[in-house]
Amino acid sequence: MDTRLKCLPCGYVSITPQGVILEVNDAFLEMGNYTRDNLISNHIESIMSVANKLLFHSYFYPFIQLNGYVDEIYLNLKGNTGADIPVLFNGKYCEQTELVDCIFVHMGKRIDYEQEIRNAKILLEEAYRQKNAALASMEQLHLELEQKQAELIKLNHKLETLSNTDGLTGIHNHRFFIEKLNEYVLQFKESSSPFSLLMLDIDYFKLVNDTRGHPVGDKVLIQLATLLTDFFPKGHIIARYGGEEFVVIMPFSNELDSFHSAELLRSTIETAKWDVDKITVSIGVATSNFHETATSILIKADKALYSSKENGRNKVTHATLK
Ligand code: GH3
Ligand code: MG
Ligand code: MG
Repeated sequence: MDTRLKCLPCGYVSITPQGVILEVNDAFLEMGNYTRDNLISNHIESIMSVANKLLFHSYFYPFIQLNGYVDEIYLNLKGNTGADIPVLFNGKYCEQTELVDCIFVHMGKRIDYEQEIRNAKILLEEAYRQKNAALASMEQLHLELEQKQAELIKLNHKLETLSNTDGLTGIHNHRFFIEKLNEYVLQFKESSSPFSLLMLDIDYFKLVNDTRGHPVGDKVLIQLATLLTDFFPKGHIIARYGGEEFVVIMPFSNELDSFHSAELLRSTIETAKWDVDKITVSIGVATSNFHETATSILIKADKALYSSKENGRNKVTHATLK
């Protein structure tokens, strides 16, 4: 064998077109721990696994006959010690010698790299799976958070309504009324749109409790709250000021209008049907002016109410109307 072929950095084997080995170089012997005697005159298939033999039969012989060469066949040769030797194999038929020259490149490193790439791919897929799972659970958490926020908004709304509502009558309470009165005073200063404040107190209510008992007194308070709600148009602020006293903010209502409304209300209450024989109320009314504060208009309405009581009850007094 030519010295340079002998020292090639890859395996070289010369075989007959039928596969009988005629020559091998040193690199090939080293690759499989073979001896020359092992191989020369033996069939190339003697160092192949059964699967590789099948591949050789179905691919190598027909291809060499048809094209005169084969390229890049991956084979697992059986080494002398029985170990698998992965190789990349090229063969070419030479017309002068009528032999097939074959070279074998050991693929150990490449297979290691391929294995590393496969491992990296598995790790990457696992990382993707974990990322997707984390995203899904984050979406779920986000959804739960949104639901909780919606519940919280509902609850806050409920709490706000509760904090503005009188427990017995279900109409607005003192706290809400004071808040609204302050708003109306401010609004009046900005827009000059008048409003009036009506303050109402049940006459001799203590007597109702004393003669008919507190539960009946409570019923009268609830009935009066319903009457007030039915009596005044929407947009009027009706509240229980405390005890048997009620207040109404009447928007866009001047002195005269508010007095007439209060008078109509007084007579409506007087003629309404109650759980007790008769219910009458005394009313004090005050109308906004430019110097008014929430406290001053409250004092005026209260004083007017006191006058109604003083003048015999079941009366309406306007703070400034003569
Ligand atoms: P006046 O004509 O001077 O207003 O006499 P009055 O009896 O109505 O006034 P007074 O201030 O002497 O009594 C008010 C009564 O209202 C006393 C109190 O027990 C009663 N009252 C206050 N809040 C409630 C309540 O929630 N339920 C019941 N049943 N009674 C209440
Ligand atoms: Mg009172
Ligand atoms: Mg009273």
